[in-house]
Amino acid sequence: MRLGRELFPGGEKEAGVEDCIFCRIVRGEIPANKVYEDERVLAFDDIHPMAPVHVIIIPKKHIATLLDVGCGEITDLQAMMAAAQEVARLKKVDKKGFRVVINCNEEGGQIVFHLHMHLLGGRKLRDGLN
Ligand code: 5GP
Ligand code: ZN
Repeated sequence: MRLGRELFPGGEKEAGVEDCIFCRIVRGEIPANKVYEDERVLAFDDIHPMAPVHVIIIPKKHIATLLDVGCGEITDLQAMMAAAQEVARLKKVDKKGFRVVINCNEEGGQIVFHLHMHLLGGRKLRDGLN
């Protein structure tokens, strides 16, 4: 069993595809302000933005964490990176700069257990990664 599939008691990691909040956004069951979409990826504004530009980029396929990316999911990760380039241009932070972050598991700060990338920009971001 891979680490990414372990369950944390009480954590959203136990949520299946049915309950997963980001899968529900993909299915259109929960509204989101969509920024970019293609056949593999969806990007939407974060509901609690931490910067003037704060976009969540997800694979449409349910992948719980970065550790669950195997050979079969590499294309999804690649598509997320390409989407980040496009989102940066669409949100006009490409010239001044931006940051992408993937939180993984509990100490990495992951709350939603559907793989996602944060794209942050629109102001000078603080130094440091903690
Ligand atoms: P994590 O801490 O798991 O890396 O980040 C999850 C992010 O998803 C948080 O920044 C949170 O604000 C965002 N988020 C959680 N639920 C929703 C939702 O229903 N809609 C949107 N747009 N963002 C959400
Ligand atoms: Zn999901």
